[in-house]
Amino acid sequence: MSDDTGRDISDLLQHAADGGRISPGEALLLYTDAPFHELGEAADAVRRRRYPDNIATYLIDRNINYTNVCVTACKFCAFYRAPKHAEGWSHDTEEILRRCGEAVTLGATQIMLQGGHHPDYGVEYYESTFKAIKDNYPQLALHSLGASEVAHMAKVSGVTVEEAISRIHAAGLDSFAGAGAEILVARPRTVIAPLKESGERWLEIMETAHGLGVESTATFMMGTGETNAERIEHLRMIRDVQDRTGGFRSFIPWTYQPENNHLKGRTQATSLEYLRLVAVARLFFDNVAHLQGSWLTTGKDVGQLTMHLGADDLGSVMLEENVVSSAGAKHRSNRMELIELIRTAGRIPAQRVTRDRHLVVHDDPANDPVDDHVVSHFASTALPGGGLAKSHPELKLIDAS
Ligand code: SF4
Repeated sequence: MSDDTGRDISDLLQHAADGGRISPGEALLLYTDAPFHELGEAADAVRRRRYPDNIATYLIDRNINYTNVCVTACKFCAFYRAPKHAEGWSHDTEEILRRCGEAVTLGATQIMLQGGHHPDYGVEYYESTFKAIKDNYPQLALHSLGASEVAHMAKVSGVTVEEAISRIHAAGLDSFAGAGAEILVARPRTVIAPLKESGERWLEIMETAHGLGVESTATFMMGTGETNAERIEHLRMIRDVQDRTGGFRSFIPWTYQPENNHLKGRTQATSLEYLRLVAVARLFFDNVAHLQGSWLTTGKDVGQLTMHLGADDLGSVMLEENVVSSAGAKHRSNRMELIELIRTAGRIPAQRVTRDRHLVVHDDPANDPVDDHVVSHFASTALPGGGLAKSHPELKLIDAS
């Protein structure tokens, strides 16, 4: 089988492994037809050329979900509650700061604020929240929100997205986490998130942010019934914007979780589909620096395998996570385990901060951290008992202030 330039699959893999650009059609051919090992070897060759130090990274952060009240009602979402629903909640600033303090105590360098589209939360809410966090914890990077929240807050406040981005950036937002991308292609996006902004609009807002000096990551939720061609089209849409802006630092594919949502898990991506997508993404994104494997949604084994398929980052320990956990993601880990997963994949583990820099390189196991308090889901309203902090009182934290 060959592409439209006459290259067969093995020529195409060599071309991409050498740093050549592949077309969406070629990416689709590799995704569906390339032998798995050869595909992985080509993606790993790209990873090795980009990162000859053989380092793969993780970070410590906390997802703070400030409200589950949302007017957008995405069909894949198990986290939100409609306004006035009895199970709706919002955290006040004091509670958000308390959670930031705990995160700092556990060594977090980043906070990911993520929440519903609350009908009352305009730009002013985010300005005051970000300012309060930065005033109290200037050491925390605010890698938060995404184009969907920007579109919503701008609408609530009656301002342009440019103004909304500029104001929350000035108040302390460091970069956008890129949530809300789901799948950007119109057909499947309309099916799973009919009230969300279009994929084109999501990209326009990210492009505006990049133009205003606010970088982001780009994400992809796989497995809600999209075709293989639509998976590759999602990558194509991001790569085209990246050619213009260079503002996407990392690409983070993850898999749809099937519980407690309207889609009811009728479709799901298999582990093999996920791993092939990771490898193709590494080959296709010649213009995106980093590729992150998702251990949270696919499990630690699959997460570790991504290290052999082009990924150079294993994401966060996630001291708190509620959104994906509400939909059934049950995987848990801790700092020591993430280090071990990376090391036994043949990489040198390093803790990074939000913007790439290595905080600690774990090049000697004898110097590995031994603090087993740095665990995923230390706190989570999505877990019975509220997470480890409540179910294991021995993990009670000292006062961070
Ligand atoms: S994914 Fe986000 S926007 Fe969609 S319903 Fe859930 S909280 Fe609301």
